[in-house]
Amino acid sequence: MGRTQPKCGAPTRKGTRCARLAMVGASRCDRHRGDWSRYTVRRRKEKERMARRRRGQG
Ligand SMILES: [Zn+2]
Repeated sequence: MGRTQPKCGAPTRKGTRCARLAMVGASRCDRHRGDWSRYTVRRRKEKERMARRRRGQG
């Protein structure tokens, strides 16, 4: 207690910032932290798709 916990601040699907408190020792909340989170997986898939498309165009 006493220490102010930073907010997650990750962008959400609604376009707002996540208002949940970040986990201790992390900059994101338990929803946006880690590779298993839906948010991270979604972003990674989009990145992969873009990379593949770019490779296809040559
Ligand atoms: Zn969050």
